[in-house]
Amino acid sequence: MTPRHHNPGRPIVLNLPQETVTAFSISALSTYALIPELNCAFDMGDCLLDAVPLERVFVTHAHGDHTRCLFRHDSLRRLMGMTPATYYVPEQTVKGFVGLAEAWHALERPRGAPARMPVIVGMEPGSTVWLHRQLAAKAFPVRHTVPSLGYTLYDVRKKLKAEFHGRPGRELAQLRKDGVAFEEEHWLPRLTFIGDSTIDTLYEEPHVGESRVLFLEVTYILEDEREMARERGHTHLDDLLKFLSDCPGVLRNEHIVLKHFSMRYDRSTIRNTLRTRLPEDFLERVHILI
Ligand SMILES: [Zn+2]
Ligand SMILES: [Zn+2]
Repeated sequence: MTPRHHNPGRPIVLNLPQETVTAFSISALSTYALIPELNCAFDMGDCLLDAVPLERVFVTHAHGDHTRCLFRHDSLRRLMGMTPATYYVPEQTVKGFVGLAEAWHALERPRGAPARMPVIVGMEPGSTVWLHRQLAAKAFPVRHTVPSLGYTLYDVRKKLKAEFHGRPGRELAQLRKDGVAFEEEHWLPRLTFIGDSTIDTLYEEPHVGESRVLFLEVTYILEDEREMARERGHTHLDDLLKFLSDCPGVLRNEHIVLKHFSMRYDRSTIRNTLRTRLPEDFLERVHILI
């Protein structure tokens, strides 16, 4: 029996030092994470009213629990007179999502109204999107049962190159006029969102451990579910524990948000199992998305 407290309409609010994230993630039911300060969201398994103003949605993969309300988001924006949002999806899924958007549009559009399609952008590992001059998102590959991407948001800061330190402003202004590149970019990983994934992603993409905030799935936590986790392309708690002992020091994140638990577990099973089994120095950085 599904515990009745899993309600995608009642998200968890994470008050992190640099951003507030409103999120929900239970396996097969729904996953979404909204970051109003950064005007973006990850996945759209459900669409809260709070999600409607967000102009960019990064989609990890096409499974329904992550995308079912993608075009509900678009419809609500249209209804409220907003411009179309941009939906970033794995390249292999663009055709499918365009077809879905067209079907919804044909079903919902009043007769004679002009066509207004959402913007759907295909992403590949390494694709970069600028949210504004100092914030960029970069995609990386993720292992699941269908084409999947993770995304890292970077604060991008310009700093003086070492050889120009201490030069007066006047001189730097002249150098700028002369077209001399005296600054270099620093990309500071701020937040990484991994959707559904096996543990392989952490072994293959260790850079995710440098983000200040990391969203990570642990769908299965009970002993007899290891095989199921493997078959369904998910992470088991045992996989995570093995990774932590195989690769100590890789996950240096200040905040680790564990999510996408199987909907069979109740809250106390999840809390008690994680508290008993995760090492203390890891646990003190963990937020549990239930
Ligand atoms: Zn899922
Ligand atoms: Zn999935």
